[in-house]
Amino acid sequence: MNLHEYQSKRIFAQYGIPIPRGEVASTPTEAREIAGKLGGKVVVKSQVLVGGRGKAGGIKLAVDKDDAEEKAKAILGMDIKGLTVKRVLVDEAADIKDEIYLGLVIDRARRRVVMMGSSEGGVDIEEVAATMPDKIVKVAIDPCIGFRSYQAMDLATALGIPKELTRSFGQIASGLYTAFVENDASLAEINPLVVTGDGKLLAVDGKMSIDDNALYRHKALADLRDPSEEDPYEVEARRFDLSYVKLDGNIGCMVNGAGLSMATMDMIKLYGGAPANFLDIGGGATAERVAAALRIILSDQNVKTVLINIFGGITRCDEVARGIVAALDEVGAAVPMVVRLVGTNEAEGRAILADAKMDPATTLAEAAQKAVAASKS
Ligand code: GDP
Ligand code: MN
Repeated sequence: MNLHEYQSKRIFAQYGIPIPRGEVASTPTEAREIAGKLGGKVVVKSQVLVGGRGKAGGIKLAVDKDDAEEKAKAILGMDIKGLTVKRVLVDEAADIKDEIYLGLVIDRARRRVVMMGSSEGGVDIEEVAATMPDKIVKVAIDPCIGFRSYQAMDLATALGIPKELTRSFGQIASGLYTAFVENDASLAEINPLVVTGDGKLLAVDGKMSIDDNALYRHKALADLRDPSEEDPYEVEARRFDLSYVKLDGNIGCMVNGAGLSMATMDMIKLYGGAPANFLDIGGGATAERVAAALRIILSDQNVKTVLINIFGGITRCDEVARGIVAALDEVGAAVPMVVRLVGTNEAEGRAILADAKMDPATTLAEAAQKAVAASKS
């Protein structure tokens, strides 16, 4: 789950990271009031879950409260990379002398949280990585020892942080690490961390992603979820307790079990096709859930064919078949479907599907080959 800038920065502040004073507005009038309270110049910032808002025109400086109202009027309702801006953050404007990048990610190969820093802050870190990889400094953190002050020193030196700011930098870096660990984040990033005209460090932009699998133990964070900013199909899938991840291919997959889902995707790849999604309907899926799954798959415009692969253990094949028929009654089968049903009540399942004009397959290999062929015809 991705957090908005204002949410991320509020968390950062709880860990001692300096952020600009500011508040969130959903109308130009509110933006004006906030700017009035802050006094002086402000920056009006669109709150949408995408990067590069600055370049897209979603971040504007305002000289006073009248100007802030105007800027908010321009930004609210704006479309940024397909997302409509519903809220803006009105922050005290920073006097920026220098922009630094500071972020934390999980490096699976190293099995460590890695802190990355770059003197080339403000721009996309992906761009820095592609064009000037030597401008990125990395420090791997031992989970048993935690983030140490010598690591902060090393980073500060490599990033060219002025001597008088190394202490503050150390506190920010260490605060960011604690925020990352305590909130089960998969990403925490300050871009830019700025050096201000009066010689202070300030986190001007913030971004955090929280591991969905840990949300059960972060009730307050889970409540911050904003479904209107997420893929509508993934929202729908969550409502029905389905594990669904959209992918780029054109073969829709409906499978029971995460392992079998991955094996199915591998087989599709092996035979030269590309899966449109990962979808695990889980064990003991009801007809209602199966129908929801099929609706989600078929609402993806890229889907050219559907591969249903069910291994009935706890899940009963007849129940799955009833779900498929129910979904098809509702949405209609616009694309060819290949179905492999084996296990508990498979004969009953097949009988239910006999009228549904599905291409039956016995083995997974056969099913994958048929689906790939259908996706290319
Ligand atoms: P992003 O484009 O979505 O990453 O949004 P940021 O919050 O990082 O803002 C983009 C850029 O706008 C920053 O790198 C700064 O150069 C500039 N910016 C943001 N806030 C301020 C501010 O308070 N004062 C000034 N002068 N520039 C700002
Ligand atoms: Mn940024």
